[in-house]
Amino acid sequence: MAPGPSGAPDPVWLARFVRPGFADAQPYDASHHDFAWRNRELSRLMSNECPLPPPPTVVAAAVEALGQANLYPNSGWELRDALAAFTGVSSDRVILGNGSTEILDVATRAFVGPGDEAVISVPTYAFFETQVRLYGGRPVLVPMTPDLRFDTEAIVAAVTPDTKLIFLCSPNNPTGNSWTIPEIETVLGAGIPTVVDQAYLECGYSTSFAALVPRHENLIVTRTMSKAFGLAALRIGYGVADPAVVELLLRIRIPFSVSLVAIRAGLAAVRDPAVLDERRGFISSERERVFAGLVDLPGVRPWQSDGNFITIDISETGRASADVVDAARSEGLLLRRVSAHRLTGQYVRVTIGTVAQNDRFLDVFARALGDPGEAAALGVAGGAGGGSGGTPA
Ligand SMILES: *Cc1c(COP(=O)(O)O)cnc(C)c1O
Repeated sequence: MAPGPSGAPDPVWLARFVRPGFADAQPYDASHHDFAWRNRELSRLMSNECPLPPPPTVVAAAVEALGQANLYPNSGWELRDALAAFTGVSSDRVILGNGSTEILDVATRAFVGPGDEAVISVPTYAFFETQVRLYGGRPVLVPMTPDLRFDTEAIVAAVTPDTKLIFLCSPNNPTGNSWTIPEIETVLGAGIPTVVDQAYLECGYSTSFAALVPRHENLIVTRTMSKAFGLAALRIGYGVADPAVVELLLRIRIPFSVSLVAIRAGLAAVRDPAVLDERRGFISSERERVFAGLVDLPGVRPWQSDGNFITIDISETGRASADVVDAARSEGLLLRRVSAHRLTGQYVRVTIGTVAQNDRFLDVFARALGDPGEAAALGVAGGAGGGSGGTPA
């Protein structure tokens, strides 16, 4: 198994010193990534990466920066300026992070401590809840409506005098749907610092909320170069927020959290919008093609998505998502159950891959669902080391 938190209690000497909230912390579980790295022959359709490697210009910029690896990086002002222009805001409204998860973490630390509440629309990305709990806060989970709409009224109604932060995600992982400007503005009206995670924005054509930031001092949009830009390994994320909020978050973030290699590669990538447009088009057309293939399968309900993934409700097939994920793995495809995202029922999430990977997925998935006997047999064959259990993405 991947090295990581063992779940064992801290030894006595250590327990004396550990801060209360951290003694029984349940961190975000990233073991599915290690599983994929240890099994390189498997197709990674489980963590919403871009299937295409970076273009040569981006690789060349990264290699050039490596030649200056003896120097500390700068604050990344050129990348900050470029991302500000890319998102349509001024540079003082942008903060760089070591992945957007660093911005999510810093925002949580800035606002949420023991006794505080954070309102989270669920199902969603599990990291919001794990960080709130880590810092001693109480997550207040507001379910989407049964027809999978964001429950704007319930979110506003969940706000109490103890609420310090609200988490929304658009396009939402794992449901795939996006917020609208009126819905976001209704939530912003509650006056609470509100994070809108837009990690998947460039994977499709949903609405960017960066343009709302100058009108709403409590809006914090998080963005990333990990998904459509395809630079997940370099860890480049950013936040777009009011200059006073950016100042606050900079006080908390460690200096030099974004490496020079990441800064230079990120800069080369934002300076080539044609590559991004091409990827956006490719991901979107492949997503529609996979969706159409899934709709044809009996008992299978795929959810419309604006991201580079599709979550599929297989409850009506009578099959368990763990068995289907195991069966697909035995045929070389890594898929994801989405049980950690506060979804109950039988769901499987697939990332949009290359044309060949998507073809193979449709074929393998249909067979895995079609014949329980065959799938069970395959599940036994592929059961070792399992990454299919309830691990979040
Ligand atoms: C993948 C993902 C992220 C992670 O982004 P990084 O910029 O790589 O840290 C953030 N939010 C959501 C909803 C994601 O699915």
